[in-house]
Amino acid sequence: MYWDHKYYKHSGMIGFMGILCLVFLGVPATVFLSIIYSYAIFYIPFVYINLFLTIGCGAAVGYMVSKCAKLGKIRNNTFLLITGFGFGLLSEYVGWVSWLFALSEQKYIILSPGTILEIMADLSKEGVWSIHGTTPQGIFLYLVWAVEAVLILGFSTFMVWHLLGTKAFCERCGVWVKGNDSISLLEPIANPGECKLQLEQGDYTTLESLKKVEVSSDHFTVIELYHCSGCNALFLLTVKDVKVKINSNGGEDLQEDLVVRNLIIDSQIYERLKNHWVNGDEENSESFPDEMEEQPLSDVPSNE
Ligand SMILES: [Zn+2]
Repeated sequence: MYWDHKYYKHSGMIGFMGILCLVFLGVPATVFLSIIYSYAIFYIPFVYINLFLTIGCGAAVGYMVSKCAKLGKIRNNTFLLITGFGFGLLSEYVGWVSWLFALSEQKYIILSPGTILEIMADLSKEGVWSIHGTTPQGIFLYLVWAVEAVLILGFSTFMVWHLLGTKAFCERCGVWVKGNDSISLLEPIANPGECKLQLEQGDYTTLESLKKVEVSSDHFTVIELYHCSGCNALFLLTVKDVKVKINSNGGEDLQEDLVVRNLIIDSQIYERLKNHWVNGDEENSESFPDEMEEQPLSDVPSNE
């Protein structure tokens, strides 16, 4: 089923537990986070801090929802995207309800979206807050609200997809794949496109020819190996090209480009890659506590 290609792909399962987790855990978490967020932006007069709070709210909602979806074992990418977007919308709605509640000095709880839109239209005529002596009104204020909505919806959707859409699930054991061995600080791959094709054809020579580089390197390759320790029948390879960039604050940002993500390999390749760069003290990989059992190729489930 989900082995029916070179790469791991979600099976598409949603399940009743998934829906229960979203409704009974995801909804309260989103409502709680959105109330905190709207009160924070109501009382904090600094627009730059508010911008970070908006991003933080979207990301936090997405993170919480992804945790609920993970608990409910949802593995359907389209549904995950809709979920992330839907909970972003819920957050935006609850945010407005509580912000207006704060604005009315805790007098009015306005739940009707139509009435909220009418109040927004009224508020936009006069403006509601000022920055550097300017009070945004009309179209400009709507633009600010639109940016706020896009940030919340965007970050919420992105987080859910990023955290679960790319995470592998073992259908055989009914669990998310946890086992992870990573090999970092290998020299950059000269031609990532060519290397991707080689890896898809089971040719690991380019990957295995990579030498270790200095810890201070600003461009290197990271190999991530995943396996299901329950059945020892699902083995995956992710290869990333990582560049360290100095941002405007003098800090370091990592730019990651995928060469392959969750390419299906077998246990022998897994062990070979895991041990390939082990030479004495310079080992960077974190070994998974479970003992790996060598399995012949034929034990990897075949297509249905
Ligand atoms: Zn398994």
